[in-house]
Parts: sequence; C-alpha cells; structure tokens
Amino acid sequence: MHVAERISRLGTETAFEVLLKARALEAQGKSIVHLEIGEPDFDTPPNVIEAAKGALDNGFTHYGPAAGLPEARQAIADYMNKTRGYKIWDADNVVITPGGKPIMFYGMMAMIDPGDEVIYPNPGFPIYESVINFLGAIPVPLQLREDKEFRFDVADLEALITPKTRMLIINTPQNPTGGILTYDDLKQIADLAIKHDIIVLSDEIYSQVTYGNFKHTSITEFEGMPERTFVLDGFSKTFAMTGWRLGYGLFPKDMAKVVAKLQTNCTSCTSSFSQIAAIEALHDRTLPHVDAFLKQFEARRDAIVAGLNEIPGFRCLKPHGAFYVFPNITGTGMTSQQMADFLLNDAGVACLSGTAFGAYGEGFIRFSYANSIENINEALKRVRTAIERRL
Ligand code: PLP
Repeated sequence: MHVAERISRLGTETAFEVLLKARALEAQGKSIVHLEIGEPDFDTPPNVIEAAKGALDNGFTHYGPAAGLPEARQAIADYMNKTRGYKIWDADNVVITPGGKPIMFYGMMAMIDPGDEVIYPNPGFPIYESVINFLGAIPVPLQLREDKEFRFDVADLEALITPKTRMLIINTPQNPTGGILTYDDLKQIADLAIKHDIIVLSDEIYSQVTYGNFKHTSITEFEGMPERTFVLDGFSKTFAMTGWRLGYGLFPKDMAKVVAKLQTNCTSCTSSFSQIAAIEALHDRTLPHVDAFLKQFEARRDAIVAGLNEIPGFRCLKPHGAFYVFPNITGTGMTSQQMADFLLNDAGVACLSGTAFGAYGEGFIRFSYANSIENINEALKRVRTAIERRL
C-alpha cells in the first residue's frame, strides 16, 4: 500500500521499541529489569477509580463536547489557578484531550506553518522534533547543558532566534534529564519571547513531580505570557493515570476554539467517564496519594543516583524533578547506544540511549526510576557487575 510522503518525516518514541526488544528477551527466558518506560508503577488512586465506575453507572457513556465536559474544564481551570499562582484561567481556556500528547500535536498543527523555525530542547522529548518535521517546519535544537544541571543557557537561546522563529518549546521539569528551569531562567525566556514575538509551548506534564525545596514555576506567570503561551499538562504522571489517556492544554480562548476544532476532526472528544474521574483526581482527597507517590520517587531517586555514582565511568547529577536520571557515561569509552544495548543484552537492564532524545544526548543514558526500590537495587547491582567485568 502507498505510504504518503509526509510519513517519512515522522519520528517515534524509542522507549516503546526498547520495551518490545526487552519483552522478546524475556520470552527467551532472560530476566530484565525495566527502567526504560516513563510511567509511574503505582496504581491510580482508588477514589479516582471509584469515580470512573460511578460515572459509568450514571450514564457518562456518550459523546461529549469537543473541548471537554464543562464541569471538567472548570475543575482544570481551578486547579491551574491553584497550582500556578497566576489566576487567569477559566473553563474556556481549557481543551481536554486523550493524554497530554495530542496537545503537542494539535497546538503545533494550529500555529506552525511550513518553513517556520521551532526551537526545542535537546536532549528532549522526541515527539517535539517529530512533529516539527512532520509539519514541514525547521527544527532548531537548543542544547541542555550538564554543567547547568540540564538547563540551557539563555544566551544560547537568544543566538538561535531569527525572524523566522515561530515557536519555542520548553519542558520543565524535564524529560529525559529531570532538570528544572529556574524562576530567573523563565523570566529571561519570557522577555525574549515577548521581544521577538514568539509563541511558547510550555510542557508542564511533570509540574507536580518535584523534590525538596524545588517547586515548579510556569512561564504563564509572567506578564505578557498567557496570551502567547499554551500549556500542556495532564493526569498521566502526577496521578499514575497513563492508561486512562487523559490530558489537557490551556490556550488563549480563541486558540482553544481552533484546537477543539482539530479534536472534532480527529477523536471528536475525550472519553466522558474519564473526565468525571479527572474531576475527582483534582480534588484535595487525592493529595495524600500524590504525596505518597512523591515520597517514594524521592527515595528511589536518592538510591539510583548514589548507586550510579559508584559505577566506574558513570557520573550522575541529582535531578530535582520528574522521575528520570541522565548519567554521563563518557568515562566508560562507550557510546550511548552501545551502552544501552550492552546493558540490555549483558546486564538485563533496559534503559534508553541519550541519543533517543536528540544528538545532544550523546554521552548519556536515561533510566526511569518509576520502579520499585528492589528492582532499582537489582538493576544497579547488575549494571555495576557488567561494567566492572568489561573494564
Ligand atoms: N510530555 C513529556 C515531556 C512526556 O514525557 C510525556 C510522556 O512521556 C508526555 C508529554 C505525554 O504524556 P501523556 O501520556 O499524557 O500523553
């Protein structure tokens, strides 16, 4: 069957491919510790599951409005106003989608023309670059720097801006590095976006996954930004709801209508009973569950960072957000891909090559620590033994 030309410009997410390879090895009887996939291992909080069951019993089994159920859009707007400190959102700003990912796709479809330049973090979530290419726009990678705790240099950003720059993508807390942009970074980025009339996609899917004194700041908190920013967030990471496919975007109201129209053309709407469960997830009743998730993530982060730093040739920063570590492995003399293959085949530990997140990921690998402390300790033991045997 004919494959359209545009498909050749579409990238993918390697995590799912590595998962397949790992499953094939397991089918041959090999034991694999899975640190490749970025999803909480916890179950969805029970009150949220009960709310979904209740919604099914109460008839939320029909189509709903394209942008989302009004009560769910309002609950999301209220939640944003509570968690982001700049109380500007109402239901008309919100579009609810099956997962956060469609916000990336719809938002970029709605605002980018072929030939526009889009600046995006590298290493970064691979779908940004995929969609930029798919739309015939020009991807402009912005390097995240290990010596800046995986933030970028605002001077580097400024140097990449041209009259063709349409959009800047930022992601904080960040996948794959766990880095967090500071208040000062965001202020300077906002100034540049306003000065050069650039739209910002602010991917805040890990907004609630921060540790210690580190708190998330949204770039929408700066004056002049809500009208040029769209925020991506969702339920997958904070509430352990990846399989529910439930996310949302916040847009200026006119743009929310455009994005809802794209959704009408694609999925019609997000599942209705899930949206009722979403309202429950945002209720204060769910907070103790989220706090418990965060405590466990923090303990796992501390364990994996300490363990990785004991392995010859590895150097690992302690990230302050998300649930990934991004150790530098240049000291081993292996490339990122060689290391990821070696760990899968020889150590039975699945992780991702840093280059799965772009060229600036060379020299690094990504482990997701959304796994039990027992599995993390087992993975550390295996990696250490395999590396020491090889040296
Ligand atoms: N943005 C980033 C940075 C992510 O890491 C992910 C998922 O891994 C998403 C967006 C998409 O999340 P969802 O599962 O809600 O579509």
